[in-house]
Amino acid sequence: MSRLRTAASKIRAALRLATSLPARLMGAAVLALLLATCAQRPSLLAQIKQLGVLRVVTRNSPTTFYFGPHGPTGFEYDLARLFADSLGVRLEIYAPLSLTDVLTAVGKGHADVGAAGLSVTAAREQHLRFGPPYQYVTQKVIYRNGEAEPNSPADLIGHRLTVLADSSHAARLADLKRQYPALAWTATDAAESQELLAQVAHGDLDYAIADSNEFALDRRYYPELRAAFDLNKPEPLAWAFRRNGDLSLYQAAIAFFARIRADGKLTQITNRYYGASEVFDYVGTRTFIHDVKTMLPRYQPWFEAAAEKTSVEWQLLAAIGYQESHWNPHAVSPTGVRGVMMLTLDTAGDLGVDNRINPKQSIIGGAQYFARMESRIPAEVSEPDRTWMALAAYNIGLGHIMDAREITRERGGNPNRWIDVRASLPLLTEKKWYSQTKYGYARGDEPLIYVANIRSYYSILNWITSRPKEPVPEAPTTASNEDVAAKQ
Ligand code: GLU
Repeated sequence: MSRLRTAASKIRAALRLATSLPARLMGAAVLALLLATCAQRPSLLAQIKQLGVLRVVTRNSPTTFYFGPHGPTGFEYDLARLFADSLGVRLEIYAPLSLTDVLTAVGKGHADVGAAGLSVTAAREQHLRFGPPYQYVTQKVIYRNGEAEPNSPADLIGHRLTVLADSSHAARLADLKRQYPALAWTATDAAESQELLAQVAHGDLDYAIADSNEFALDRRYYPELRAAFDLNKPEPLAWAFRRNGDLSLYQAAIAFFARIRADGKLTQITNRYYGASEVFDYVGTRTFIHDVKTMLPRYQPWFEAAAEKTSVEWQLLAAIGYQESHWNPHAVSPTGVRGVMMLTLDTAGDLGVDNRINPKQSIIGGAQYFARMESRIPAEVSEPDRTWMALAAYNIGLGHIMDAREITRERGGNPNRWIDVRASLPLLTEKKWYSQTKYGYARGDEPLIYVANIRSYYSILNWITSRPKEPVPEAPTTASNEDVAAKQ
């Protein structure tokens, strides 16, 4: 106590001295003091490297971060992981329960980065600094199929509308209220945006607002949802940083985004999560979810047994089976392929399947056939591109995929990337191209839809089957991604 008093009186004495000095001298003293403080304090980036940890705050949702069969996954998670790797540090990711907590964590410096599908808004820019935009989205008014479609903000008046507290959606509604004074809504910090969409799907809420990227993914789980109109012009999503004088991490993020934009990684990650959603047939989704509940339980043990035997995830095998036959053991195509996994007679013989309409035999045989395709994709193709190429091979034959890789190379693309090979596949229907290939003509546009559909089924199955398994860390101290992954 007395030491404190002594220190305080020393400061007071120094202040008295300072005020008695000429202004210029005082300015110089303050500057020197500031410089000394800065020199002592390493930059945020240096601290992160020193501690070996990047603390990222996110949200638990399909567009950001969730648990898949192999542990933590999601668009923001993948980006954050890549960023942490590029800095040579461990990623510590956590997801508080509300958007408000995400913003507070960044503002107060409890997290280094907010990577949570955050919209860049003027109000937020007052106290946060945003990195480069990585996606542009619009705010969509969501309603339930069969209910009256709203056409303008005026149509929302008098209906149950809930948005997340502190969200860009709440900010937009507040703007619109000036024009539509009767506009009213509830702001909640007790739900995630996906739960609001679920409430609309179940009829517990009339309207919700979702970013277009969220809607693109969430409608696969709730096929009865419809988007009515956009509340705003496209707005950027970006990572948020604390707004203070330390720009070190922010600048590292700018360099990081420039790099992943140039080398195609950003496109690859975007495509990994959003690629399939664009071409998906939404009527099909509803049937799929219904079939997962009613039919899959009968076949799941065999998909799991096949997964055990081949080390291919059962969800992927089930997705292939659904695309091939809608899990119908008696399915037969005009070309004579049969059964749940639609094997040809030759392939079946090769795999020791003597009865193709026996679902167990078909599933195990199909899994082995897929695993064989996968093992023949050249080693330089890494995941997840390997899986997509193996699926395309399952659909039209490995030889044609090799041809498409060759064409990709010739056209200056990357034969190890599915998006590039996918773009070359339709050329196999054109004589100009297929006449130069080893395996000739193929129905090259088929695998595009085939792979996209399987990816959608697979992602829905992952979501349905992995959701309740793991609690999401809500605080940075509870778990790092490695800890979480180790528990899987
Ligand atoms: N982009 C929205 C925001 O930044 C996220 C909230 C939501 O998706 O509901 O507020």
